[in-house]
Amino acid sequence: MALIVQKYGGTSVGDLERIHNVAKRVAKSYDEGNDVVVVLSAMSGVTDRLIEMAHQASSKPCKREMDVLLSTGEQTTVSLMSMTLQAMGYKAESLLGFQAEIQTDNGAGKARIMRIGANRIKRLLDEKKIVVVAGFQGMDCDGNITTLGRGGSDTSAVAIAAAVNADACEIYTDVDGIYTTDPRICDKARKLERISYDEMLEMASLGAKVLQIRSVGFAKKYNVPIHVRSSFNEEEGTMVVNEDSGMEQLVVSGVTLDKNEARITVKKVPDQPGVSAKIFSPLAASGIQVDMIIQNTRSGGETDLTFTVTKTDYQEAIEITRRVAEELGGKEVLVADDIAKVSVIGVGMKNHSGVASRMFQALADENINIRLITTSEIRISCVIDERYAELAVRILHDAFSLDEL
Ligand code: ADP
Ligand code: ASP
Ligand code: MG
Repeated sequence: MALIVQKYGGTSVGDLERIHNVAKRVAKSYDEGNDVVVVLSAMSGVTDRLIEMAHQASSKPCKREMDVLLSTGEQTTVSLMSMTLQAMGYKAESLLGFQAEIQTDNGAGKARIMRIGANRIKRLLDEKKIVVVAGFQGMDCDGNITTLGRGGSDTSAVAIAAAVNADACEIYTDVDGIYTTDPRICDKARKLERISYDEMLEMASLGAKVLQIRSVGFAKKYNVPIHVRSSFNEEEGTMVVNEDSGMEQLVVSGVTLDKNEARITVKKVPDQPGVSAKIFSPLAASGIQVDMIIQNTRSGGETDLTFTVTKTDYQEAIEITRRVAEELGGKEVLVADDIAKVSVIGVGMKNHSGVASRMFQALADENINIRLITTSEIRISCVIDERYAELAVRILHDAFSLDEL
């Protein structure tokens, strides 16, 4: 007998028929003698629709009320799942984030889980119930409902698995594992048997939304092995685990695409100490994370600063940057949201040179202009025009022969 946490994403619980199919899977695991905690997302498309409605109600919806609204998507699926299981003759009980004692900080819209009490979950398991927990939500120390950022149900599941000391954390989704790149973009993408936490962290942070980045961070910290697999078939998926000697040490093991960033350029600000701090401090104070930064020095003691932020933070970032640029005597603020970031990732890159030049050459051969570049020990990212995004992914997948083992 084992204690298993199973998380099902939006497509897997997209309608009542799918909820029923998931309930059968859950029941099967329970019948095999396991204790089962189920973590659910909202039905696919529901969170997007709620966000749209909020923006129709107000041009600048308050973050607290936004979280109250967005948490309802998961409230619907957990209650329906629990009812379905009960109708099948099983003892099941649904819990919202606060009832499952998921305590977060007060970062509305992208809150971090600080602690999970899990007493109630354990008590219900002792009563031999199937526990169905709403993903993506928690409660801050003032009792406000919070949400964990898009894709946050993955993080709920892994954090709960760590808190109850589960034997397995299974993430059921609409693809049958983690691939060398998004299989919906590149049909040559190859399914990986295993991937290390570190590589998965990079892939998630660079746009592979198959796992939310924070879920991988939790898994690594608490050593929770994750099994990513399909909710539509019985195939083995991909294990996300600690790096071990048997693992492929490929120079490049994956390609990712992120269309969720936008670019801001401040033209002709004075090239002197303190200017970057003046621009980036107010952004940080508003909780806006800046990703790539490039500074071009011009002649005449002036410089251009270009950086990227997520599209969610884009409007607020533009307002703040325009204000600061004016104070600094900057000449102009240029903005663009039709950009995409493509990245190649691989732990083997640490010991190899020539990866960057191969990447740049492959893009150049297709006449794709690179607008920004950043690198780390195990990845290289290029910002390009959005219209070339999918093409670039396929080109890079080919350039590094990722379809071959
Ligand atoms: P869920 O609703 O189950 O949480 P998501 O849509 O959040 O599912 O994540 C699954 C999607 O992630 C897949 O449909 C796929 O298009 C995308 N994806 C991106 N990169 C990868 C990758 N490297 N391997 C597998 N899936 C990927
Ligand atoms: N429903 C939320 C979202 O769409 C959380 C999740 O699906 O993980 O982002
Ligand atoms: Mg997801």
